[in-house]
Amino acid sequence: MLYTTEAIVLNNYPYGEADLIVVYFTKEYGVLNLFAKSPRKIKSRFGSSLEPLTYSKVAFIGREDRLQRIIQSDIIESFYKIRENFNLFKKIAEILRFIIQISPKKEANPKLFLTFTETLFQIKESNTPDKYLLYLKIAILKSLGYLPDFLYCGVCAKKLNGVFYYSEGFPLCKECLKKEGKEFRSFSKNIAQLITSFSNWDVRYLKRVHLPESLTQAVERFIDSHIQTILSYNKIKL
Ligand SMILES: [Zn+2]
Repeated sequence: MLYTTEAIVLNNYPYGEADLIVVYFTKEYGVLNLFAKSPRKIKSRFGSSLEPLTYSKVAFIGREDRLQRIIQSDIIESFYKIRENFNLFKKIAEILRFIIQISPKKEANPKLFLTFTETLFQIKESNTPDKYLLYLKIAILKSLGYLPDFLYCGVCAKKLNGVFYYSEGFPLCKECLKKEGKEFRSFSKNIAQLITSFSNWDVRYLKRVHLPESLTQAVERFIDSHIQTILSYNKIKL
């Protein structure tokens, strides 16, 4: 059977002498490992289309319960401009790894795929890519059900009234916090509000938003530590 889908390369690694395993985020099939025959040879028909971050149209064949083989890969956008910016690419590579680690395999998520590609196009054009990176992390967390809603206590489900404590991935109320005797951090209502706003905005809206740097950095710290908490729950290292 022949399959075709739009896809972004998340990573690739050598397989045997000249072959490659490519980890894709595909529009139709979610995160998917595919096999490419001899792309590391000179004059390979795949060219540079299997490089991380490349957005392409991919055709592949094979049984669904086996490693399927790429037969064609046509570049839609190489995102070369992002890839050649070392610092920026390093930050994006972390997000690509996070998607691989946290996404259920072979589960389509076309809405996140669309947000992801749209955000990459915005990053490519932007002089202030950091807010887009933050936006992307929040979008991934929300889409996969890992973003706290900051409305209800993560233990007793009681409504939270503007007082925020955070422990091991959840906002908690004061009572549960005492009961559980957990380590916690309190944080400002502004952080919760900005995260919630980010998660509801269309990415194109970000261009017009000017955010105070100190608040953005506080949100960034919160989101990064939240991601670490999720990964450590799942016993994964970033
Ligand atoms: Zn509670």
